[in-house]
Amino acid sequence: MNNYFVILAAGKSKRFGKNFKQFYKYKNKEIIDHSVEKSLKSKLFKKIVIVSNNARYLKKKKYPKLITIIKGGRERSDSSLNALKFIKKYNPKNVYIHDAARPNFSIKLLKNISKNLKKNKAVVPVVNSRDSIKYKIKNEVFNLNRKNSLLTQTPQAFNFRELYKLAIKEKSKINDEATLFLNQNYKIKFIQGENSNNKITYLDDIKTTKTFHGLGFDVHRLVKNKKLFLGGAKIPFHSGLKGHSDGDVILHAITDAILGALRRKDIGTYFPNIKKYKNIKSPKMLKPVVENLYKSNFSINNLDINLICEQPKVSRYRNKIINSISKLTNLNKDLINLKGKTVEKLGLIGKEKAIACEVIISISKYD
Ligand code: ZN
Repeated sequence: MNNYFVILAAGKSKRFGKNFKQFYKYKNKEIIDHSVEKSLKSKLFKKIVIVSNNARYLKKKKYPKLITIIKGGRERSDSSLNALKFIKKYNPKNVYIHDAARPNFSIKLLKNISKNLKKNKAVVPVVNSRDSIKYKIKNEVFNLNRKNSLLTQTPQAFNFRELYKLAIKEKSKINDEATLFLNQNYKIKFIQGENSNNKITYLDDIKTTKTFHGLGFDVHRLVKNKKLFLGGAKIPFHSGLKGHSDGDVILHAITDAILGALRRKDIGTYFPNIKKYKNIKSPKMLKPVVENLYKSNFSINNLDINLICEQPKVSRYRNKIINSISKLTNLNKDLINLKGKTVEKLGLIGKEKAIACEVIISISKYD
């Protein structure tokens, strides 16, 4: 296990828009700490070297002993060379070079690199480009075959002596260590990288979507000689729900849940008990609210519904109700869940004189 892991974290984050990208919080951790923790957890390394110009700040983190912090250089290649010179005295067998700006690599990838390193002097993860690439030479633009275009990622791993020899000789500034090997026509073993192992360059790369939740509740009394509507579906039953509208508790609760998630008050604000809305069909109340939701660049993640009643049995009508809600909300059926709840014959609901419903919704905002 004479392997060394180098984390390059001395960049100036010019394109990121904020200073010290490596210390920016991402998934509840500073970006650099994702790499630190994964390299530690892999147990593949004798020493982990962080190249940074913020040693004083990093020391406060009290990393375990096998982590050493050294000073970075002007460019990435200078920092990388600093690290190689530093670890030379330990006579390492292999060295992995990694950019702190790639916090999303997996330990599985590390292990795959390690496995391939047994028979190769250079192992570099690559992915194919998803976009078509053009290549410009002077004023001419050429197409690159996407299938033959490889995007190199880090960690990249090398036999230490080979890499050191090449790094010392190289005078130009290079973007990654694979370049050193390619420039000298040395063989590199390319392995499958990870699409999620993208490099964080711009603040936009890690912008998280904002998610909101909304809660809805409704209850209506059951009365004879009225049709029963649940979730917009007509359900055969001895009674229907009494109300200023058709009394559809499910749609009312969904409407309120959406308004809650949007932080736009409640259903009564938009549909008060006035003559205009007498006997209004509940889909007509839900529709403008759903339209407003989609127009405001929100998407629904899921909808979970508790229908609280003794009768009718939810299991009999579940598909019918979910189909109807799916149509009314434009939401995939597999994102809607409907649970039936009885109340042990207690109270008005238990005596089949009322039906109640509660709903929770999750929505996300996109640009
Ligand atoms: Zn209602």
